[in-house]
Amino acid sequence: MSHLKRSLHCGHVAEKKIGSELILAGWVHRWRDHGGIIFIDLRDNSGIMQLVFDPAVVPDAHSLRAESVIAAKGILENRTPETINKDLPTGKFELKVTSFEVLNKAKALPFQLDEAEKVAEDIKLTYRYLDLRSEEKQKTLKLRSDLCFEMRSFLHLHEFCEIETPILSKSTPEGARDYLVPSRAYPGNCYALPQSPQTYKQILMASGVEKYYQIARCFRDEDLRANRQPEFTQLDMEMSFIDERDVQDLCEDMFKKIWDKFARRPLKDKTFPRLTYAEAFSRFGSDKPDIRFDLEINNIDKLFEQTKLTFLKATIERGGKIGALCLKDKNLSRSELEGWVSRAMHDFGAKGLLYVRFDESGKPNSPVAKFLPDNFLEQAQKVVPGITASDTLFIVAGDYKSSWEVLGKLRVELAQKHELVDESKDAFLWITDFPLVEWDREDKRWYAMHHPFTSTVEGSDWNKPETLIARAYDLVCNGEELGGGSIRIHQREIQQKMFDLLGINKDSAKEKFGFLLEAQELGFPPHGGVAFGLDRLAMILSDANSIRDVIAFPKTQNFSCLMTQAPSTVGTDQLRELGLKCTKAATPPKN
Ligand code: ASP
Repeated sequence: MSHLKRSLHCGHVAEKKIGSELILAGWVHRWRDHGGIIFIDLRDNSGIMQLVFDPAVVPDAHSLRAESVIAAKGILENRTPETINKDLPTGKFELKVTSFEVLNKAKALPFQLDEAEKVAEDIKLTYRYLDLRSEEKQKTLKLRSDLCFEMRSFLHLHEFCEIETPILSKSTPEGARDYLVPSRAYPGNCYALPQSPQTYKQILMASGVEKYYQIARCFRDEDLRANRQPEFTQLDMEMSFIDERDVQDLCEDMFKKIWDKFARRPLKDKTFPRLTYAEAFSRFGSDKPDIRFDLEINNIDKLFEQTKLTFLKATIERGGKIGALCLKDKNLSRSELEGWVSRAMHDFGAKGLLYVRFDESGKPNSPVAKFLPDNFLEQAQKVVPGITASDTLFIVAGDYKSSWEVLGKLRVELAQKHELVDESKDAFLWITDFPLVEWDREDKRWYAMHHPFTSTVEGSDWNKPETLIARAYDLVCNGEELGGGSIRIHQREIQQKMFDLLGINKDSAKEKFGFLLEAQELGFPPHGGVAFGLDRLAMILSDANSIRDVIAFPKTQNFSCLMTQAPSTVGTDQLRELGLKCTKAATPPKN
């Protein structure tokens, strides 16, 4: 039987087709029976069209079910004025059906598509294809596709070459756990799925490619966390003979183009502000500060040099720091203040949070008021610029890093709760000059803050690791890290210094990255690059709340796929072929 072949998309129906015979095809979106006449909203990817089935002409339409796929032939007519639907681009027309065909009959659905909001996420992920039929989800898929197209055309114009790198590869240096793929040809050996194309893109620079990019899939077997996916996508770039400014300028141009095209508002700033890591951390307690509001951290050590509060005194004597946020002009209730104390202690890892308000005469009003001098406000004005009696001071004391991190988290939540965030703009900024390495107290060793191929500024003293500054940069937008990169090490001797510092011995370095080390001695140009998280970017641009909304087939929070039921056990035959034996088994959640 030959099917009716679509002659026009629903959303493309227009005035000039009035009186013509059309064949439309799609899903039965809505169905109504008005005194025997059946009205169907037919949906395809382009939009919705009303079909009218007169039982005298087409008698079988009453049996059509929601989401069945049909093709319908008919004559396009204008609707009567009172039945025009102004909300629909095709709301002036209807197709008077003369014949139709059911291309696929839908059973009763597991959930009603127009009630998807009320349906449990698990059910929607199991029937992902039903959920994806919504207009909103289709728009998100399209936006992501357009975004990739825009990036590709921008980079193509700038003479970048798009190159795919292997998925079956070797462990890469991003520091997360690898996903492994056992090799059948070499039992006991595994490929690692790339955590990023880092080593390959550097090798491409050694290969003479001067500008590389790829929209690359990356895999990191990290612990479960909200808004994480085990596989995600990056726009990955690398260039030779450049410095950090070249990379940053190019990215700024690209983001301006992207914002002009897709964001609610274009970016006005000519260049993005740049903050060193040290400055960002001391002012905002974060390396990805949201600068759409002030509420900066103040160092108030001086205020407590002579204090009677023994724990603050002890903190200073131990070399710790005391930091404070000054929330302006909000009259906070006691219960709200206690709520912040408990949030800071239970969720932000603070040992304590002090708050100080002031009464009308300017005297401190706080659980520790009796330990504070009457002229506390006057003294505070010297270290907290502009503080007045109508403000509230939140104070955290302890070692610098952890106290400032607590204040950084509190800053963001206070701003959200008290609506301090200027939502009318998007605030980009570069964070630069990260420390090259971080000391891990538990493991008692240095770890690379980015990865071990990040270079440090020339003339650095390798004997003082804590002073080494990385030529690394992150791009931040509205408090979210969009991506980051660095200028790389391209000389073998420097690479060796880095490995020595990280305690990676010669054998292990050779085993893991031998190919790259050798390339560093066979004509390696200076180079650097960057990578941006595409999922997060799509999330920001489509105003989505979850990373799963911008991925066609996401995994659950437990990293399983409810639609295909992956991961799943494999047969003992398959394991035997790979030289493997299963000693532990667990069943992933199913629906
Ligand atoms: N490979 C790094 C990452 O995935 C980015 C870069 O340094 O280019 O985070």
